[in-house]
Amino acid sequence: MTSIDPSTIETASLSDTGRVRSENQDAWGEFRSADGARLLVVADGLGGHAGGRVASRTAVATIGETFEAGDDSPECVLRRGFRAANERVHRLGVERWPLVGTGTTAVAVALHREGAWVAHVGDSRAYRWRDGCLELLTEDHSWVSEQVRQGRMTPEEARTDPQRNALLRSIGHAPDVEVDLARLEPRAGDRLLLCSDGLWGELDEAVLAELLGRLAPGPCVEALVARANLAGGHDNVTATVAHLA
Ligand code: MG
Repeated sequence: MTSIDPSTIETASLSDTGRVRSENQDAWGEFRSADGARLLVVADGLGGHAGGRVASRTAVATIGETFEAGDDSPECVLRRGFRAANERVHRLGVERWPLVGTGTTAVAVALHREGAWVAHVGDSRAYRWRDGCLELLTEDHSWVSEQVRQGRMTPEEARTDPQRNALLRSIGHAPDVEVDLARLEPRAGDRLLLCSDGLWGELDEAVLAELLGRLAPGPCVEALVARANLAGGHDNVTATVAHLA
């Protein structure tokens, strides 16, 4: 079994409106539990009006609160946080008229002494950089991603398809939500990236790998956001990077 020391993990997060949108509906959060475990979350709000912004912030805060209060196994706490976020965002949409139809993606990584877990809903992603190779840890819950899985579309076509933002699953759209959860086997030297589609949609994985491999978390998130804006900045862009010592 792998073991890591969460207190030595170096992290940085950065979010930017981008060059086209007038408002930033992405959100991120970093949390610590009483026993020193760490949680990183990125969310990308959906929908017009104030809805997306409220949804992403509500989801990050709820997943974070649940983690900080966590008194169960890491998987249970993570799943409970996503379910609580779904309930809260769904209620917002039902009860408060301007927020009708609101929703959000969320991706989270929980780093405990006994291991790490990744959970997600939607198309915000988690990547792991290890020994120069970049690996996608999450599978987008999007219509284009489903087309690629079924062989009806190439990844290149999916990148530019007009339906590329259509999600099959999100937090807040239904009373309950299915959460994808996986255990990671973290190793010293691993670098993790959590990001919204405003980042991965603008940059090739080769660029992500190069920057993750070369830069410390602080300069890395700055460079990632700057490169996404240089590539067009068509959407809000958010990146969280963690280096496991
Ligand atoms: Mg987005």
